Amino acid sequence: MQSKLPNTTLSIFALMSKMATQHNALNLSQGFPDFNTDPALIDLVTKAMHDGYNQYAPLAGDLRLRENISAMISHLHGTTYDPQNEITITAGASEALYASITAFINPGDEVIILKPAYDTYEPTIRLQGGIPVLIQLQAPYTSIDWDEVRSKISSKTRMLIINNPHNPSGNVFSHEDLSKLEELLAGTNILLLSDEVYEHIIFDDRKHLSVAAYDKLAQQSIITASFGKTFHTTGWKVGYCLAPDNLMREIYKVHQNVIFCVSHPLQKALATYLEEPKRYLGLSKFYEQKRDLFLRGIEGSRFTYKPAMGTYFQMLDYSAISQENARLYAEGLIKENGIASIPVSVFNCDEQDHKFLRFCFAKSDETLEKAAAILRSI
Ligand code: PMP
Ligand code: GLN
Repeated sequence: MQSKLPNTTLSIFALMSKMATQHNALNLSQGFPDFNTDPALIDLVTKAMHDGYNQYAPLAGDLRLRENISAMISHLHGTTYDPQNEITITAGASEALYASITAFINPGDEVIILKPAYDTYEPTIRLQGGIPVLIQLQAPYTSIDWDEVRSKISSKTRMLIINNPHNPSGNVFSHEDLSKLEELLAGTNILLLSDEVYEHIIFDDRKHLSVAAYDKLAQQSIITASFGKTFHTTGWKVGYCLAPDNLMREIYKVHQNVIFCVSHPLQKALATYLEEPKRYLGLSKFYEQKRDLFLRGIEGSRFTYKPAMGTYFQMLDYSAISQENARLYAEGLIKENGIASIPVSVFNCDEQDHKFLRFCFAKSDETLEKAAAILRSI
């Protein structure tokens, strides 16, 4: 049997979380909160179950949830996506990404990805016979050379994938970035896949600039998002996808065959919860305090950093401490120091081994203080 993904090994997120458990280490590796979601949201799920929403949901998702997403996007970015045919509820952002790539990538099509890149993009492209065209960003990955991106566009380019705010660097796109991107793709038939799962986690009074707000660009874009990040429910795997009608029609064809629909009671609960904007508007400040607590805690350590502009991840540079490659260094920290992180080199940067680790600060203040104390002692 010939493997379709010969170079794919066990996900680093599964691996590091497993090692953290084995060694009883603080787990700041895989991105998930170590605190619970709002009890009010859990009550809404129970209510939906008692109300009888225990059978299949509509294929595109619960209509009220789609209407409320449409209202949120229109309020935040001034663009209206039609809840009837331009919004789909997906099994996490992961399925939205999978369905979007599968719907549009044919064998031989090129897809441009900016490295470091989230781990699922490249294998999904390869599964469709597509060709990933990788662009390595300069460390610490906070600026994009759009001329370089332009130079990688060929007659075979079918899609460009961006992630804003960016996992793992915490970078956030500026208006200039999006304007250049809009100009770059104008008049081409290249699709933009904009992974915006950290849309509500953005710091220091910055604003999330969604592709949705750029009219021309939005016409050729698919946006993916996740309630897992926004409502501390990564285990629910409920996300959504926005795209103009003509693109969404193709995405449905994959969605209905791969999953058909997503958990009904969870969608009902999210629909009600999303009705109040305060549910997501406070998230940036909530995580900004956690980022600051963590960074204050590591003051005086030998790690260096640029504060994350968004997401719940902070990259730390350990080059003043060790020259070991990131993977071995991260494994050593778990075994010897009792703290787990993610080596940034695995985000598709394997041939350029920068000395960065990624720490997830979606953790209780107590966990963050303990983690910082360990890092100060190294
Ligand atoms: N994209 C990025 C950049 C992510 O960090 C994640 C994290 N899980 C996902 C997509 C997948 O989201 P979900 O868990 O909702 O499938
Ligand atoms: N997105 C999460 C992260 O970057 C992990 C998701 C997963 O475990 N596959 O840590």
